Amino acid sequence: MNRAVFLDRDGVINAALYDPLESKLDTPYRLEDFRLLPGVGQAVRAINEMGFLAVVVSNQPGVAKGKCDHAFLEAVNAELTARLARQRAHLDAIYYCLHHPDAVDESLRIDCECRKPKPGLLLRAARELDIDLAGSFMLGDSLKDIEAGLAAGCQTSLVDGHRAHSRPGEAARMQPHWTAPNLLAAVETIRCIEEGCPWRSS
Ligand SMILES: [Mg+2]
Ligand SMILES: [Zn+2]
Repeated sequence: MNRAVFLDRDGVINAALYDPLESKLDTPYRLEDFRLLPGVGQAVRAINEMGFLAVVVSNQPGVAKGKCDHAFLEAVNAELTARLARQRAHLDAIYYCLHHPDAVDESLRIDCECRKPKPGLLLRAARELDIDLAGSFMLGDSLKDIEAGLAAGCQTSLVDGHRAHSRPGEAARMQPHWTAPNLLAAVETIRCIEEGCPWRSS
């Protein structure tokens, strides 16, 4: 069986953008806004070299909301793949949930099993790529990522040292195994775990 490092995309691999209309961070909707975060090439290369599958699992409701089309998502995938290749790194698979409960596109207005915090994307990847979930990791910058990873039985890291990661009343189902300031640091901790180093908290 394979082991995987599951990666959220926006805020982990590429920079999320602040949307002033919705007062929240959102995915970039123009290719020129698609910017890899520092250290991402090196981090993905390390995942490749350690023998894990590098698998993106990401909610991308932009098509459902009418903010972009399928061709744009494909263009982003191509751009991401090319930029990683320049740094001798590769993704083994990219899984997107395209659904949204308020989708303007009716075909995507589904209360699906794959939109994180549900674990559907990870479970599907596990089936299709023969992944041992208990030996795998989920790295994400949102508690939804952590919840999905824990529900799938993976070890989890919340990647963004600037964010509060424990809030009063928060359920155990959202508590990451560890936190890291960025993807590279999270992957270095995986290397440490693999090599039998004692756990460090960040
Ligand atoms: Mg994210
Ligand atoms: Zn879905």
